[in-house]
Amino acid sequence: MVRKEKIGDKILFLCEMCGLGYLDEETARKCEEWCKKTGTCSVEVTNKAVYFPNPFKKYK
Ligand SMILES: [Zn+2]
Repeated sequence: MVRKEKIGDKILFLCEMCGLGYLDEETARKCEEWCKKTGTCSVEVTNKAVYFPNPFKKYK
């Protein structure tokens, strides 16, 4: 499930798998689907990320 979280002064949608944050729920959901399916992040999707958790959780 995509998490909705207030970070700074913005409401962001976070991918539960990789923790990246997006401005719209649609993109976050896309990221999460991709993460679950492939176990990795899609560059096409993560390019739209506006929030990167620290430390960034890496796969493998
Ligand atoms: Zn993700």
